[in-house]
Amino acid sequence: FKRLELDPKSKDELLEMGQTFNAMIDLLETNYDKQKQFVSNASHELKTPLTIIESYASLLKRRGMDRPELFHESVDAIHSEAVRMKEMTEQLLLLAKHKEQWNLSIEPLHLAEEIDQLVKGFHNAYQRQIDVRISTELLAKPSLLLIQNDTGKLRQLLFILLDNARKYSQNPIVIEIENDQPMSEHLGTVKIQRRCIRIIDQGIGIPQAELSKVFDRFYRVDEARSRTDVGGSGLGLTLALEIADAIGATIRLESVEKEGTTAIVSLPAIFVPTTTMFSANSNE
Ligand code: ADP
Repeated sequence: FKRLELDPKSKDELLEMGQTFNAMIDLLETNYDKQKQFVSNASHELKTPLTIIESYASLLKRRGMDRPELFHESVDAIHSEAVRMKEMTEQLLLLAKHKEQWNLSIEPLHLAEEIDQLVKGFHNAYQRQIDVRISTELLAKPSLLLIQNDTGKLRQLLFILLDNARKYSQNPIVIEIENDQPMSEHLGTVKIQRRCIRIIDQGIGIPQAELSKVFDRFYRVDEARSRTDVGGSGLGLTLALEIADAIGATIRLESVEKEGTTAIVSLPAIFVPTTTMFSANSNE
């Protein structure tokens, strides 16, 4: 890209046009660099599992017939690396898809039910204990909440955070749901009461200095520690943040190394008394 040489003595409009042109070139260059970096990171990340798959496949080809113990080890490794690649590809595709294409709309959502389904699915897949605690205030005030959502986006966000809690801790995971304080926002005459979901693990934790970096694409705290047994791509939190941004939620992490991590999601919610708008029988 070639920037224009600007003559400060040219007419105002010409100078302004020239400056706008140069600003556009700066923007294009930054985007181009970012895209190049992204493609290069993505290729690198996909190459690692592919190399492992290739080496195990060739081992199977050479020795698989006469060494049965190699067979199981190789098939397991090939399977888990293929699963990792599939997850990564799905995350990359979602990240590449522009947020405008996500068809977000305001949908009534029953948070307690949403969490219940998520926890059931997660428990079936990983047999991990998850304690869900809903504040008495929320239990006492039946309501549905409205949130900018596309079927499954919120669940996907919570799944990423829950999955991290699983990967980086061996202990039971706790999910807490309560009203977020303070209640100060308004949408026209409607009061917005944010909900707060905390996903709490007692795992290895994240060093303070890394807390802001973990949301960057492909960033992983200590590659060796993250990758060896648990898999992962360094894309989960990036995607979670993008989803949060799109549905109007926020995510924040609090962590103490070797003690555990709490992911805090805050959701903009509008109380809709179930009796007036919906006939659903809600007891969130
Ligand atoms: P990954 O697929 O590697 O888990 P993420 O983007 O979800 O990617 O997370 C980035 C990094 O942040 C992880 O590799 C891990 O080092 C760290 N991390 C995320 N969540 C937790 C957690 N609950 N406890 C400890 N470390 C975590």
